[in-house]
Amino acid sequence: MAVPARKTSKAKKAKRRTHYKLSVPGMSTCANCGEMKRSHHVCPACGHYDGKDVNASTEE
Ligand SMILES: [Zn+2]
Repeated sequence: MAVPARKTSKAKKAKRRTHYKLSVPGMSTCANCGEMKRSHHVCPACGHYDGKDVNASTEE
């Protein structure tokens, strides 16, 4: 099994990780309206969830 030739330096590791927070965790775009919404939650903009319109009666 291949093993890395040398240890990854703190600087190299930190530079790689600068990209980690570009997207907010637990957020996604609504499939219906494209707004940012929380995953597994009803879209606050249009009230859709999983491609279906679920309004005030069945929220969260
Ligand atoms: Zn939406």
